[in-house]
Amino acid sequence: MDFLLTEEQLMLKEMVEKFAKDKILPVASENERNHLFPTEIIKEAGELGLMGVAYPTEYGGAGMDFVSYFLAVEAVSRYCASTGVIISAHSSLVCDPIFNFGTEEQKQKYLPGLLSGQKIGSFSLTESGAGSDAGATKTTAKFVDGRWLLNGSKIFATNGKEADVFILLASTEPEKKTRGVTAFIVEKDTPGYSIGKVERKLGIRSSSTAEIVLENVELPAENMLGELNQGFKISMITLDGGRLGIASQALGIARASLEDSVKYSKERYQFDQPIANFQAIQWMLADMKTEYDAAWLLTYRASLMKDKKMNYSAAAAMAKLKSSEVAMDAARKAIQIHGGYGYTEDFNVERYYRDAKITEIYEGTSEIQRLVIARDLLK
Ligand SMILES: Cc1cc2nc3c(=O)[nH]c(=O)nc-3n(C[C@H](O)[C@H](O)[C@H](O)COP(=O)(O)OP(=O)(O)OC[C@H]3O[C@@H](n4cnc5c(N)ncnc54)[C@H](O)[C@@H]3O)c2cc1C
Repeated sequence: MDFLLTEEQLMLKEMVEKFAKDKILPVASENERNHLFPTEIIKEAGELGLMGVAYPTEYGGAGMDFVSYFLAVEAVSRYCASTGVIISAHSSLVCDPIFNFGTEEQKQKYLPGLLSGQKIGSFSLTESGAGSDAGATKTTAKFVDGRWLLNGSKIFATNGKEADVFILLASTEPEKKTRGVTAFIVEKDTPGYSIGKVERKLGIRSSSTAEIVLENVELPAENMLGELNQGFKISMITLDGGRLGIASQALGIARASLEDSVKYSKERYQFDQPIANFQAIQWMLADMKTEYDAAWLLTYRASLMKDKKMNYSAAAAMAKLKSSEVAMDAARKAIQIHGGYGYTEDFNVERYYRDAKITEIYEGTSEIQRLVIARDLLK
């Protein structure tokens, strides 16, 4: 599909592929098994511009577009899906809303550090009682004596343990429900702000997933992001972009599953011939490739629509829905093709299988993506 890409996009793709293969792959499985956040890799990714691909150079970004962002997250996730989501959550869920909804002062204050990767971002919408029903937030923000006072707790914040800057959603007028939610920017050292439980997970273990506890956290008025009571809308717009990131991550896992399976099926001999000779294996490979290409094209379309400032909400939901299901299916087939060895830690396919599952859950489950697509159809 390279014929769809510009010279600049192709160069970026090649550069990220090389970086990920040379620097990330050698440590990916070990880090993942040991729940280790790849601090050095993220620093290097920042130096290469990967923590701010699609944002203007005047704020410290790489000045490229969202098609390039999709290619970068896909290439990183091909080798390590944990690193892919660290970059995706940071860029799509933190840099994007600050760039889109921040005041000029907020952009000047936060974007240079975030886009260069010197600071890490985390986005906190989910609560124990507010998952798919994201508007059911119980965390409150009250304006008292010219300052915001935040109380409550959030769960499942990607990058939560390492982040310096958090975007956090709190209820400012609970009786208004989703119309009474506001977004805030919180810095990690703010008194009353702490990290609670850090989850042990099935996959993407190099990325942290943390609880955030807020006990009388005081914020200056200027830390409100966007307008009062517009937080739910900001979150939904932000998640459209986030879904592009997760679709790209899922594509990386699907491609990893396919490429490793092609290689293995040529090398593994049974019945005096490579297993690639068996039609049963060939059909699995053919289906994996066809589904990958279909998902890639959907994600390319959604990224291009974002670049063209079109309404891409349903397109992003389709890209994420398709890519995540393709990743899960490709990883399952990859283990099948690797036989018993695929079930062991000697091959990477067991990691792909564990990593793939989350792409069907976060930033809106597959059921929620179908709901978004159907709503768009029936409006
Ligand atoms: C590893 C990880 C990282 C995450 N990172 C972040 C992050 O950075 N920031 C953040 O804010 N959140 C994050 N999340 C939270 C994630 O987005 C939610 O877990 C997800 O949206 C689902 O919410 P839930 O877990 O409460 O499931 P629930 O909403 O309880 O859903 C349970 C089941 O019910 C189904 N369901 C719910 N409502 C409907 C409906 N209306 N129609 C049909 N089916 C429905 C769901 O599809 C699912 O199958 C993360 C989660 C994980 C596990």
